[in-house]
Parts: sequence; structure tokens; C-alpha cells
Amino acid sequence: MLIRDVETRLLPVRMKKDFRISYGTIDQMENVFIKLHTDTPFKGFGEASCIPFITGDTNESVIAAIDMLKADLIGQTVDPALIHDLMSRRLYANGTAKALVDMACYDALAKEADLPLHRYLGAQTDRLTTDVTIGIDSLDVSFETARAYYQEGFSIFKIKAENDADYSISLAKAIASLGDDVILRFDANQGWSADTLTRVLEGLEGYPVEYIEQPVDRKDFKGLKAARLISPIPIMADESVADLGDARNIIEGGMADLINLKLMKAGGIYPLLQIADYTQAKGITCGIGCMMESSLGLSAALAAALCHENIKEYDLDSALLVENTSVTGCSYYQGSSLIASEYPGLGLKEDLW
Ligand SMILES: [Mg+2]
Repeated sequence: MLIRDVETRLLPVRMKKDFRISYGTIDQMENVFIKLHTDTPFKGFGEASCIPFITGDTNESVIAAIDMLKADLIGQTVDPALIHDLMSRRLYANGTAKALVDMACYDALAKEADLPLHRYLGAQTDRLTTDVTIGIDSLDVSFETARAYYQEGFSIFKIKAENDADYSISLAKAIASLGDDVILRFDANQGWSADTLTRVLEGLEGYPVEYIEQPVDRKDFKGLKAARLISPIPIMADESVADLGDARNIIEGGMADLINLKLMKAGGIYPLLQIADYTQAKGITCGIGCMMESSLGLSAALAAALCHENIKEYDLDSALLVENTSVTGCSYYQGSSLIASEYPGLGLKEDLW
């Protein structure tokens, strides 16, 4: 199967609710979508979500990067290894643009094989249990949000928290009181001081906190290692790890207990699975997260999560927060279960355009 053409398009995504993390409010209203034409009847689609303060990518930069790569992509075999080799020789970084091309390649390949993508990749199951992220708000509003999700069947809560130990401790205690099955995770998004971390650890001793994600700046490797040394709770690296080289740096430096993977950081399914292989060989478990993809882009992350046994922590909740009304047939939620579509590829029932 050969690539015949590549198109990108901005399509609206509707935020179902405001969402704030320690770096800023996420209020984007469009994601970038791709359509990959091949020399067969099978077309590949994909969706990228840019959060510029996390990856440095913007909708405009993704479209420009794909426009730049387009002449090289046309005529190539739809083979993820070959396509990534080509993209990385032409363009450094730009993980979001590469993830978009990667996703469309896998969508087309799985459609050609007449399999849903997770089965094309060898997954044995079609669903997983995801956490739900509680964005930053007043204590009352955040707790009410968590309570509503708990009633819908969610019991794993990822708390987004600024450099505010009192808020973090109070909210965690309130959410823990919802039930014995509650599991808590924190995501500091690079925003905590050593003092906040220490106070949170002391304040929540005995509470079911599973891990603390990216307490310090992505480049503050000393700080990350120091956090790991003082914390009895596992430390997860997120923003510090985009690609395989970053994962090596963090693991060889003993800086984290867990690594969080994202398609938009890694550059797609193919490089993300390479990181999962590497971390597995090193005995370090991975989580998988997302940006603000609607159910199309999220289906790619779900397929990657289901097919690799070293990806064990799931934070795939973006389609609870955003939706694209032209996407039909892809992954969907039943309570806290995220379930893969049974349609081929990423599951689109109808071409987006
Ligand atoms: Mg994170």
C-alpha cells in the first residue's frame, strides 16, 4: 500500500467543561485531523491535539510540518518503521505532527487487514479501566466534580494541583472519603516546590496515593531525583520524557519509578511502543495519557495501551472532556471502562471528509 496524498484539516472540538492545570487553562477549540490517501480504497485518518505549553507544538506548526513532509511521504509504502525513519531524518522533534502521520498509517493498515487497530496490534482485550482527571478549581467544585464521576463508576482520580499543599491534601482526603475503592494520583505538571511535596507526603500518609506525576520542571533532573529519594510514593515522569532518549536519560539516572507515555510526545504509536519495550527491559512500568483528543485520537492511544503489557496505568479520559460531533464509531466509555470500537482501524464509521 502506497501513500498517494496527505491532507490536514482543522475541525472544531467542543470542550464539555473548562479545564485548568498548573500551567494554564486549556481552552482550545480545534484539533488537527489528517486524511491519508493510499493506492487502495483504504484511507487513514488521525487526530492530533496540541497543548503548546506541554509539547511546544501548535495547530499551525503541525500543519506546516506535515506540509513540509508531504512531498517525501507521497509515493512511500505505508510502513510505520520506514515512515518514522523518513520523518526523523527530515524533521527533529515535532512529535504531534509525527503522531498524526503515524496514526493515519496504522488506521489504513488495520483497515486493509479488516481489523480494529487494537487487534491488528495483537491486543487480547478490547477495554481498560481509566482514571479521571480532576482539573484545578475551588475545593468545593473539584470535590463535586469527583463525586459526580464516582457516581458514574470512576474510582481512580488524578488530581491536578498547583503548588498548594493545603488544597492538595484537603481535596485528596475529601475524594478518598467517597469510598474504600478510591485510588488517588497527583499530577503537579512541573509546578511543585520540594516543600509542597514534603507537606503533601506527610499530610497524606496512609491515604491511597498511587503515584505523584512530574513534581518539578521537565529539565530539573536533580529535583526529580531528589523527589524520588524523599518520596515513599512512586514518582512518575511525564513532561521529562517525550522520546526514547529521554526515557533512557531518566531511567539510567534513577530519576523516576514510572514513565508516562503519550502519542503526542512520542511521535505516534510506533515510537511509543519502542519506549514501552525499552522500559520493560529496564523493569520500569509505563502509564499512558493523552492531550485533548476526541474519541478518534484517543482510539489510537487505547490501541497502543491494550497491545503492550508494560503499559499498565491508564489516563485516557480526554473524550470525557472534549468531543467532535463528526467523529462516529470510535472508542467509547461505559462508566470508567474505555472500550475499543469493533470497526476496522481506529473505528471511524464514516470518513470525516
Ligand atoms: Mg501529566
